[in-house]
Amino acid sequence: KNRAAGSKNLRVKLVLLGDSGVGKSCIVLRFVRGQFDPTSKVTVGASFLSQTIVLQDSTTVKFEIWDTAGQERYAALAPLYYRGAAVAVVVYDITNSDSFAKAKYWVKELQKHGRSDIILALVGNKADLQEERKVSVQDGTEYAEKNGLFFIETSAKTADNINELFEEILSDCYDQLP
Ligand code: GDP
Ligand code: MG
Repeated sequence: KNRAAGSKNLRVKLVLLGDSGVGKSCIVLRFVRGQFDPTSKVTVGASFLSQTIVLQDSTTVKFEIWDTAGQERYAALAPLYYRGAAVAVVVYDITNSDSFAKAKYWVKELQKHGRSDIILALVGNKADLQEERKVSVQDGTEYAEKNGLFFIETSAKTADNINELFEEILSDCYDQLP
């Protein structure tokens, strides 16, 4: 995409939400470090990471990533993390129907209480586990279409579609620039 000369430095607050165990931390680790650690520890509360992307026109985009814990006891803290977030990534596990139901809950919550211009991405993770699939691609696609979300299935394990997810987010952020 061509823009008028003059590069910018942008900061983008991004929050990940979704049930415990769906792979939020692994997705972040994949994006930020290009790694997958199957022994990764459960996130307690929330953790913070950042990743800076340099675009062709020298614009830098610094993602400030809040990776939240999915545990119920932290649910009350969620607004602290999604408040003011430009981007929310809501993750479920394609092998777990409950996690899909929970993702829908988060989408509603963000639509009600998040920024009015929030960029919402719905992510069906663990797409490498096809044999154990419980949530169809169609279920994800239809829900996303109805609610105006970006939808993608990923695998933090194989890295499938992880870059595509963040490229789409980046492009949506760029489109929102004044
Ligand atoms: P979180 O609680 O949402 O942050 O989930 P984690 O990132 O801690 O991952 C939970 C478990 O799922 C870990 O055992 C990961 O190794 C595993 N996991 C995460 N992403 C994937 C994936 O894409 N495929 C598979 N097969 N396992 C995954
Ligand atoms: Mg985690």
